[in-house]
Amino acid sequence: MSATRVPVLSNNVLAAMPKAALKLMRAQLEPVDLVYGQILYEPAQRIAYVYFPLDCLVSLLTVVDEHQALEVGMVGNEGMVGMPMVLGIGVSAVRALVQGSGTALRMGAARFHAEFKANPALQRALFRYTHLLMAQVSQTAACNRFHLSEERLARWLLMTADRVHTEEFLLTQDFLANMLGLRRVGVTRAAGDLARKKLIRYSRGHMYILDRPGLEASACSCYRIVRDLQDAAQI
Ligand SMILES: [Zn+2]
Repeated sequence: MSATRVPVLSNNVLAAMPKAALKLMRAQLEPVDLVYGQILYEPAQRIAYVYFPLDCLVSLLTVVDEHQALEVGMVGNEGMVGMPMVLGIGVSAVRALVQGSGTALRMGAARFHAEFKANPALQRALFRYTHLLMAQVSQTAACNRFHLSEERLARWLLMTADRVHTEEFLLTQDFLANMLGLRRVGVTRAAGDLARKKLIRYSRGHMYILDRPGLEASACSCYRIVRDLQDAAQI
């Protein structure tokens, strides 16, 4: 997503585990480079791997009428991609799309299933993350219904920046429109409003956050609610 990113080499779920348990598990985790636009799962497909993002970002999209998709959640190094596996379900309900290139640690589904059953520390960390992801998804649903485009765009940019650990990323307007469920003209207008306030700069597919406190003030309350929950859960 950006060449200027500072690499992040930890994942909060894994970091919450005791060292000895993590050491045993590390041997089963394989580093993998995920690339912008890569699809990890489609709805109703079997989950082959779970992923612990380190510095990549994965969007969870609900697909409607086979061609329209809306982002309902995003996962960075605070979580894991493949959460149905935690509930004993081996099939994805959503499309998982890599939105920010980077590295993740992955584990085969069968291995994860065995590890999860035998590892109470991993269970605790993932139960906490299940709660956080459900809170994020339900907040996003309400946000899409009630909040203005400009506020939603500000929220989305902040959530993305938090997960890719940079204030500058590549982004097309079509992609943003799909993520936010807006028409392209709606994205242009919302981005224009934020740019006029000198909170962002957007040119030729490059998004720069210029004034983070200002962008936080322009975002809807959903951003703060989800971030506070995450801070309170401290996984
Ligand atoms: Zn909102």
